[in-house]
Amino acid sequence: MAYITKANSKKILHKLNLKNANLKGTIYEKPIYFFSKMEEQSLLAYQMFVKEPQKFITEVYQRVPIKEDTMTYVFEGEAPCYHNVPYCERLHADYCNFRIPKEIIEKGEGLRFRNWFKANLYLLDGDRSVLEMRINIAFGVNIHLEDIVCKNSGYVAIDNLPLNKLVEMINKKLDGASRFYYASAKNTCILKRFSKLTFLAHRLIPIQNNDTGYSDEEVKELLAQYEQEFKKPIIELLQNYYRVKYNPELEMEGFLLEQLGFKQCQHCKNEFIF
Ligand SMILES: [Zn+2]
Repeated sequence: MAYITKANSKKILHKLNLKNANLKGTIYEKPIYFFSKMEEQSLLAYQMFVKEPQKFITEVYQRVPIKEDTMTYVFEGEAPCYHNVPYCERLHADYCNFRIPKEIIEKGEGLRFRNWFKANLYLLDGDRSVLEMRINIAFGVNIHLEDIVCKNSGYVAIDNLPLNKLVEMINKKLDGASRFYYASAKNTCILKRFSKLTFLAHRLIPIQNNDTGYSDEEVKELLAQYEQEFKKPIIELLQNYYRVKYNPELEMEGFLLEQLGFKQCQHCKNEFIF
C-alpha cells in the first residue's frame, strides 16, 4: 500500500477538465443548492478518487500536469510523492510552501536558496528567528519568515476530526448560509439569482443579465462574501468528510498513484509493512 498527503490528494483536481465529466452521485446527506456545475463535479471527482481510485483513473483522470517551474517558490515543479509507510516523516511534514524572497531572485540565487531551504527544513521546527538568522548569514538578506510563508488553507485544524464532528460543522455552516440568504431582501434577491455563480465576483467584465436591480459592484461584493464565508469552507469540509468516510489514511495502491503522476518517496522507498 502507498500513502499520500492530504494536500497532494487535492492537487490532482486542479488541472482536471471537469466540464463534461457528468459524474453522478450524492454530494452530501442533505441537498445543497448553491454549487455550480463545476463545483459539484469537482466534489464528486474528489469523492470518487478517495473511494474508488481505480474508477477515478479510468473514468475521470488525465495525468497531473507538472507545472512549469517559475522559480517563485521553494516547492515547485516537482512530481508529488507517494510513501510506502504511513509513518514516513515526509508524509507528515505537510508543510506549506514558501516564496523565494525577491532580493534573492534578483541576485540570481533562487535555485541556491531553494536547495538550501530544503536542506534546512528541520529548522522550521525550532525557533524561527534562528532560521531567519541562518538565511541572513547564507544569503546576506534580512527576511521575516512570515512574509514568505504561503499558508495552505485556513482549515488545517479540521484535518483530523471524526465524521460526526465534520457533519456537525457542515450542518452549522449550511444553516449559516441559509440565514445569510434570508438576512435581507437584497441578499435573497442577489443569491436567488447568482448563488451558484459566485465565480462572477472575480471577473472584471460586467455581469450578463444582471436583472437584480443592484449594481454589478454590489452583486460582486455580496457573491465574494458568500463564497468566502460559506461556499469555500463547506467545500473544504466536504472534502474532509469524504476522506474520513471513505479513506482516512489516503491509502492507495502505488501503481495507481504512479498512473496519476506520483513518484515514490526516496525517503521511505525501502521500508514496507508486512
Ligand atoms: Zn516517504
